[in-house]
Amino acid sequence: MRGLFWFRSDLRLRDHRGLAALAERVDEWAPVFILDEGLLDSARTGEPRVRFLLDCLARLDADLRKRGTRLVVRCGSPERELPRHAHETGAERVVWSRDYGAFASGRDERIRQRLERDGCRVETVKDRVVYESDEVRSAAGRPYAVYTPYAKTWRARFAEEPELPTGPLRLPRPIPRVRSDVLPSAKDLGFTDEGAELPTGGEAAARRRLDAFLDGPVAAYARDRDRPAVDGTSRLSPYLRFGAISVRTCIDAAHELACADPAAGPGVRKWVDELIWREFYYAILAEHPRVARESYRREYDALEWENDDECYQAWCAGRTGYPIVDAGMRQLAATGWVHNRVRMIVASFLTKDLLIDWRLGEHHFYRQLVDGDPACNNGGWQWAASTGTDAQPYFRIFNPTTQGERYDPDGAYVRRWVPELRDLPDSRVHKPWESPILAPGYPAPIVDHAERRRLALQRYEAVRA
Ligand SMILES: Cc1cc2nc3c(=O)[nH]c(=O)nc-3n(C[C@H](O)[C@H](O)[C@H](O)COP(=O)(O)OP(=O)(O)OC[C@H]3O[C@@H](n4cnc5c(N)ncnc54)[C@H](O)[C@@H]3O)c2cc1C
Repeated sequence: MRGLFWFRSDLRLRDHRGLAALAERVDEWAPVFILDEGLLDSARTGEPRVRFLLDCLARLDADLRKRGTRLVVRCGSPERELPRHAHETGAERVVWSRDYGAFASGRDERIRQRLERDGCRVETVKDRVVYESDEVRSAAGRPYAVYTPYAKTWRARFAEEPELPTGPLRLPRPIPRVRSDVLPSAKDLGFTDEGAELPTGGEAAARRRLDAFLDGPVAAYARDRDRPAVDGTSRLSPYLRFGAISVRTCIDAAHELACADPAAGPGVRKWVDELIWREFYYAILAEHPRVARESYRREYDALEWENDDECYQAWCAGRTGYPIVDAGMRQLAATGWVHNRVRMIVASFLTKDLLIDWRLGEHHFYRQLVDGDPACNNGGWQWAASTGTDAQPYFRIFNPTTQGERYDPDGAYVRRWVPELRDLPDSRVHKPWESPILAPGYPAPIVDHAERRRLALQRYEAVRA
């Protein structure tokens, strides 16, 4: 029997549930990736993610070639290309890993119906998360709306029924003479080949990163994870986003380390908590696809935003006059990645200080981030805007100056990304407006935090009333 595996956000060969499922059932196969022209043309698609995706695809192809086959690339709409490819290859079975969210689920369902009408069997497999939303439920069988009880149930389930990495994969024979398009470059697709300084894509790079993180930083993760100047987090987010490594592999390797070296235990536990946040946001998006556009807490859709374009542009460009905000936005533009603490600070600043709709920030991040992920990005933004599930209470508004002083006490992070502030003393680097030394070219704050805080509280209270 012949089968196709449709690669999407699972660009690897190791610990791959979908590939394992296909390999068990067919004698010949073809791996296919469809570059969806609709998605590439979307205003939400930005250069960092496209370049990283192409890099991952090229490396996946190289890995497949080492195993006697190659990646079949098709350009066009998956709804047209996948059934066409199945027909051309005589495939009777098509397998893919499940995706979550309204757009992906709707598209996948239409493709499934079409393939089944054509006589193909379709199998979809859980691969992207450890547990899907219906596997982590309250005692009353309901989905959770708050992270802490969700994480507790998630951990209890994992203790009872851990989901472990799959063993070595024996791939079926390749289907001979399969037509493939050439993998385009970012430039061919209308994006620049340069731009943000991105990490190397692919499975081998992901594994190296995991090993390097578990070899050192994880031990101090509980302490260092909030310090943007310290290389204290795994930086695995782009690899998890594109499935160059599986979340099961990450958790399994971390647990193995904690068993071998109990001193690493607290760091490992905290790190796994973050991976559970990822699962939580995937579950929220799967249960409530409307959150992609609307506030989870509906009352906040009545919030009165100012959406001042000049302020929005200053925020995007890293020229708000608040050093930690500007450092974060410049790091985003330069590298497609921002430290989590700083994501929270810049998102709070946009929504609470500038009173700009969280959807505008979410959109900008999604375009710019190399790890831009529909579930985690939405969850992070709604958390910061206090409109989400496990909402940061609306009255807790980050003060960008004190956040900078607390998490970047010697200003190393700010100095790295905002060179205008390099010569300022440590005590003034987060409040250059008080510095005796001038910072030529650096703007004065575009808003007064104390004033804007009062206004934001009024606006949020008005909605709650
Ligand atoms: C406003 C905002 C937007 C965000 N947008 C995204 C996004 O588009 N894509 C994305 O992957 N993460 C997003 N996050 C979550 C988090 O900032 C990143 O996952 C993290 O900074 C990635 O760095 P790391 O891989 O070194 O993380 P580590 O600290 O090493 O954590 C390991 C992994 O856990 C997951 N994770 C960590 N923190 C979170 C979190 N708070 N929520 C969900 N998952 C988490 C990620 O997959 C991460 O790679 C966002 C957070 C905020 C506040």
